[in-house]
Amino acid sequence: MKAITILGATGSIGQTTLSVLEQQSTHYSVYALTANSNVKALFNQCLRYRPQFAVMSDKVAAASLSNQLRAAAPEITVLAGIDGLIQVASAGHVDVVMAAIVGSAGLLPTLAAVEAGKRVLLANKEPLVMAGHLIMQAMHHNGAVILPVDSEHNALFQCMPAGYQVGEPVPYLKRLLLTASGGPFRQLPMAELVTVTPQQACAHPNWTMGRKISVDSATMVNKGLEVIEARHLFALSAAEVSEKIQVVIHPQSIIHSMVEYIDGAVMAELSSHTMRIPIAVALAWPDRINSEQSYLDFNALTELNFEPVDLCRYPCLDLVYQAIKAGGTAPIILNAANEVAVAGFLAGQIRFTDIATMIDQTLERCENIAADNLALVLQIDSEARRLTNQLMTQADTKTVFVQ
Ligand code: NAD
Ligand code: MG
Repeated sequence: MKAITILGATGSIGQTTLSVLEQQSTHYSVYALTANSNVKALFNQCLRYRPQFAVMSDKVAAASLSNQLRAAAPEITVLAGIDGLIQVASAGHVDVVMAAIVGSAGLLPTLAAVEAGKRVLLANKEPLVMAGHLIMQAMHHNGAVILPVDSEHNALFQCMPAGYQVGEPVPYLKRLLLTASGGPFRQLPMAELVTVTPQQACAHPNWTMGRKISVDSATMVNKGLEVIEARHLFALSAAEVSEKIQVVIHPQSIIHSMVEYIDGAVMAELSSHTMRIPIAVALAWPDRINSEQSYLDFNALTELNFEPVDLCRYPCLDLVYQAIKAGGTAPIILNAANEVAVAGFLAGQIRFTDIATMIDQTLERCENIAADNLALVLQIDSEARRLTNQLMTQADTKTVFVQ
């Protein structure tokens, strides 16, 4: 029986993980569930899955959850804040940690799990973007195992030679081919992008996901973050990215990514577009479990199409490529600016097209230095956030549409 902590249990990935685990109750026990501030959702999960610990980042929410659980399930211990998250991510009793917090808030608990040598199922890509070197170094030093949950990286991992472990250079690699759906605005006339609403941006054609990653998919900043994620997971340097990682649009989201080897052979992973599959793969690896998923029907699957990416339509992806080239703290600044700008767009403060402008202006105004320690990563992250927030208050908001 393995004990699992689910960081971000109330989110899209967290809920799907719990659902996949329902068929695995003889193999897994739920050690801890965590959430930001949604008391009702975490309370209901606590009653259903009976973890030993429940953690809420928000201290007021934690107090409220604690009150409610005192009567309903007094055996569950409620913890609060970042210390609580770190405690349940690194506790001696925990074998597996699902890292499914959204955004930079996941950095410290994810790093704590890696430093504690856990088996870390990694959905939360932003920590790798901010501190990929530190996380991969900690993985090597502490004997942790990282298993990618992001569907593209999970697919790449499945296409690796037998026995391959994340963090090792890929033998005989020619290229990693990251597929992208292109999001909901792939065919929208470009002039209309300025007026798209948060609701339209969150209506992804193939996937149901949290709101931040949905907007990231619409701008394709998500694919840029995934390029950085891939380079860290599969041991490529920033200088190798342009030659060894290619993004290709594949609107059907059936091929989740591909690995091309030096002899010209291309290995692809195909499946229905549901996160149940990468989650089940990561949970069971190297074994396989039933993910309770419908199987692909090759009689109905008539087309698999591919297109090159048009960087004029997706300026955010272009900005990620520039940040990779610039190196140093640029990816941290870009990630922070994007998080603030996406939150601003979702709150009706700025337009969809302003997201790229905010990232660009923040990158321009922040000094780029070497990012070699955690304290500096956190400092740069918070400085970039402050600057983007400031830029947003100055942005022209005349034509902002709220859903
Ligand atoms: P979500 O918004 O649905 O859920 C986020 C979870 O994080 C929630 O449980 C929330 O309570 C928690 N959280 C939010 N802010 C927090 C904070 N400040 N402190 C602590 N906890 C906090 O997000 P999601 O779609 O499940 O995505 C989670 C992560 O997985 C993201 O990094 C995303 O990029 C990645 N991912 C998601 C999908 C998907 O299909 N949803 C696919 C691939 C990768
Ligand atoms: Mg992905």
